Amino acid sequence: MRISSWGPRPAASVAERRAHRHLARAFRRASLDVVVQRFSVPGRGRSRNVIGIYDGPRSCLHVVMAHTDSAPGAPGANDNASGLGVLAALAGRLLRYPKRCDVWLAATGAEERIYTGSPDHLGALALARRVRAGPYARRLRWALSLDEVGRDRPFWLRSPVAAPRRGVEEALLGAAGRAGVPVTWVRDESSGNSDHREFELLGLPAAKLGVGAGGEPCRHMACDRPSRLDPKSLVLARRMTAAALRAR
Ligand SMILES: [Zn+2]
Repeated sequence: MRISSWGPRPAASVAERRAHRHLARAFRRASLDVVVQRFSVPGRGRSRNVIGIYDGPRSCLHVVMAHTDSAPGAPGANDNASGLGVLAALAGRLLRYPKRCDVWLAATGAEERIYTGSPDHLGALALARRVRAGPYARRLRWALSLDEVGRDRPFWLRSPVAAPRRGVEEALLGAAGRAGVPVTWVRDESSGNSDHREFELLGLPAAKLGVGAGGEPCRHMACDRPSRLDPKSLVLARRMTAAALRAR
């Protein structure tokens, strides 16, 4: 993964901005419209969400997001260059098949609360507010956070609800089944530890696809390097998400 070979990318840093530019280029190459949503990270500076937009004939919306920042000192290969890599691969293929809904692919900023000191994932908070304030407020079917999808399958699909919902977790698990990707739904502890959290807190349906039962022993550490990633995991995460976006 090229992005994680550049070193740590804490929120509001030059390195985070560089990774964001990389995703913006990937979205533009894929002929998506690119919107940059800027926001402040108190005490650290400015960050942003880079959103690649596919505005098709449908009125509903699917959001796929991956956080761009890493913890300081961590190259963040699995957490979360893995999610960014899947986002870029999805963008490159998005125009090839019919979509069930319009699509926003979002490279969010400032997720790592361990660094920002914020109780919220700041990029996701800005993004969820943008969805809620606009025409898609009641038309968001789900927002999916790809976070640590580079190793340790079967993946876990996580959300802070009591049981899988029909149009959200069940729809995503159904897509995983069609794509032949092993995924288990596991309820979040408390409100969730990735970008889906802020959507759910604002009453918008969301979940996270990420690491399985083995966890990520190198999370926020210098050992979260690209050599630990399993390319097959990235392909499977991409296939599952594409299956969920595709019209049937
Ligand atoms: Zn993460």
